[in-house]
Amino acid sequence: MTSDAAPARPDPTDEVVDLCRDLLRIDTTNTGDNDTSAGERRAAEYVAERLAEVGVEAELLESAPGRANLVARIPGTDPGRDALLVHGHLDVVPADPDEWSVHPFSGEIRDGYLWGRGAIDMKDFDAMVLAVVRGWQRAGVRPARDIVLAFTADEEAGSDYGAHFLARRHRHLFDGCTEAIGEVGGFSYSVDEQRRLYLIETAEKGIDWLRLHAKGRPGHGSMVHDDNAVTALAEAVARIGRHRFPVVLTDTVRAFLAEVAEVLDIEIDPDDPETAIAKLGPIANIIGATIRNTANPTRLGAGYKDNVIPGRATATIDCRSLPGQSELLERQLRELVGPDIAIEYIQRQPALETTFDGDLVEAMSAALRAEDPGARPVPYMLSGGTDAKAFSQLGIRCFGFAPLRLPADLNFSGLFHGIDERVPLDGLQFGVRVLDRFLRDC
Ligand SMILES: [Zn+2]
Repeated sequence: MTSDAAPARPDPTDEVVDLCRDLLRIDTTNTGDNDTSAGERRAAEYVAERLAEVGVEAELLESAPGRANLVARIPGTDPGRDALLVHGHLDVVPADPDEWSVHPFSGEIRDGYLWGRGAIDMKDFDAMVLAVVRGWQRAGVRPARDIVLAFTADEEAGSDYGAHFLARRHRHLFDGCTEAIGEVGGFSYSVDEQRRLYLIETAEKGIDWLRLHAKGRPGHGSMVHDDNAVTALAEAVARIGRHRFPVVLTDTVRAFLAEVAEVLDIEIDPDDPETAIAKLGPIANIIGATIRNTANPTRLGAGYKDNVIPGRATATIDCRSLPGQSELLERQLRELVGPDIAIEYIQRQPALETTFDGDLVEAMSAALRAEDPGARPVPYMLSGGTDAKAFSQLGIRCFGFAPLRLPADLNFSGLFHGIDERVPLDGLQFGVRVLDRFLRDC
């Protein structure tokens, strides 16, 4: 397409690099505390301006000062079709410049990568979506169905100021949306030179964060004392931390393992899937967490003086439940901690699981195969949680599909919230091409 003399339009696959770099340079650190978080306002305004430049009007919605979300709707050509929600969060987790090879908010390009906090989680996808939409608007392309874009705040601290706020207070903006795509899916895992699995998120574990409270008799540290809250709490925490919950393979994990067995030509023992999962290298720690409930102690609190036995002690446990297992996990935990320790839920969000079928899945798969003939799309379960939890409460069927083709030797899962987070430039551009195909006619 070099023949016409019309002025050259920016190519979305070039533009995505600039858009992503600009977003990385806007500090949107989310500490989980409004007083110390940078807020998403500047990033949301940046996105709104880039959309306005091409004639897309967006609504900016603040949940608290500086905590900004952005929603826009691109009308489709077929009003009879249900809408598709495309969502990406604008906040990032903190980054300590002293630990990084480049400044985490510099958006530096080095060795074929764009570096910065948020490069894969998830300003990469935000930039891809922007690049595709800007490309369409300039070329006069309209998608088949309405596409609702949501750029959210606060995903990294539970989404209260972001997706949950939108779902609670502005649900009309999502009228007609029946399906959604968002983060942590669509990335490649290389089997060999020719073949790559693309992991599409069809399920995610539930969030069950709880606080244990032990009570005892306060007293002097020098005396005989048989009712010590710290001792009781420590025993309970140790029992939980060392416990291995039973393996339960849900449909998604079963389907994923079947694909893995086939492409790697290995047998997977359903009673011991871990041996096979260990062979998956960089994604083993994501997949390994999706075959059972997990409970990791993360915080401890007790006491105020070295020689005073406190009357209370607390611990936080980060538990993640498989679909349909939250109540079972609660019973298992109660049994582990015993009758004298109280359990308080500080965050409880259900797991999600949908099937790997239907037109939308076909469209994702076709777009991936068109751009990578060695692509083999597979369903998988994410061990963490995303904004999908909030949007699924509106009855929307959510997938993780932020396509990225990755080099075989990149430790992708290690980059999430990790030091030297970075995205390969060609992977980013691949993502734009896949999304463009997918969103046009899904
Ligand atoms: Zn994320």
